[in-house]
Amino acid sequence: MFRRILKYRSRRFPVLIKKIANYLNLFSDDMVNLIRRINQVLDKYDTKMTYFISTYLIENRPDYHEHFENHDFAPHGHLHLDYTIVGKKAALGDMKNSVLVFKKQNLDPWVFRAPYGLTKIGNNSEIFFEYEKKLGILYDSSIRAQNPPPHPVKHKCGVTSMPFIGITDDYLIDDLKLNNNNEILRRFAETLEFGKNGVLVYDMHPIRMGQAKYIEIFEGLIKKINQKRNYMLTSLKESFSNFSKKDEDETLVCFTGDIDNLSMIDYFKRFKVF
Ligand SMILES: [Zn+2]
Repeated sequence: MFRRILKYRSRRFPVLIKKIANYLNLFSDDMVNLIRRINQVLDKYDTKMTYFISTYLIENRPDYHEHFENHDFAPHGHLHLDYTIVGKKAALGDMKNSVLVFKKQNLDPWVFRAPYGLTKIGNNSEIFFEYEKKLGILYDSSIRAQNPPPHPVKHKCGVTSMPFIGITDDYLIDDLKLNNNNEILRRFAETLEFGKNGVLVYDMHPIRMGQAKYIEIFEGLIKKINQKRNYMLTSLKESFSNFSKKDEDETLVCFTGDIDNLSMIDYFKRFKVF
C-alpha cells in the first residue's frame, strides 16, 4: 500500500499542482449560484441536466440536492479517486460509499459516473461495471472518449453505458488555455457531428460553464443544437429509454455536469484518504 501511495503522489503530483492552480482561479463564485445559472439556461430551453456529484460533498448536507431543482443528479464516486491507481479495495469501497450516501438520504443512485471518466479498476474495466450492477446501478456514463460511439454500450453484466465526449470545458479552457468564447463555442459545435444519428453526451462542469463569463457559450451551444435538423435535446435519463425509439436520422443530445468540489476546502478534504 505504501508503494502505491508513493506511486500515486509521484505520478499525480504535477497534475495536482496544476489542478490546484486551476481551481484557485475557478472559485470565483459560489457553487449554488453556478448551478442556478446553468439551470436557468436549461429551463429556458425546456431541457434537463444530469449533475454528477462526488458524495463527500453532500454527506453532511442532506438538503443540498434541492439546489438541483427539477434536474437529475447521480453519484460521481465518493472522494473523487482515480480508480486506476488506488487499488481494487479502495476503488470498490469508494463506489459503495458513494451509493450509500445517496441511499441514506433517500435519493436514487440510478446512474453512475466514475471520477475522471476512468472505469478501470487497476487495468480491468469489467470489474467496474460488474460492481455497478452489484450495487444495483444499471446505467452508467463513465466512458470518456474523444469521439465516442454514437450508441449506448451494453456490458456483459447488463449495465448500459452512455459514453461522453472528451472535448469538455476543462479540456478546452484549462488544458488548451482557450480564452475566446467564440473559439470555445466553435470547438464545442464541431463535436456535434461526433454522435450524428445517435446520442451525444456533453460534460459541462458548473464550476466553469456556470460562470457569468462562460454561460453564453453554454447557451450558444444549445442554440446551435436547436438549429440543427433532427437534433433533439433530451435528458440523459430519457436518452437511455428513447434511444431505441428514435428515428434513424435523429440525434439525441444530453447535458451532464460533474461537481467535484464546492469550495477550495472541499477540494483539500478529498486528500484525507492519503
Ligand atoms: Zn469529476
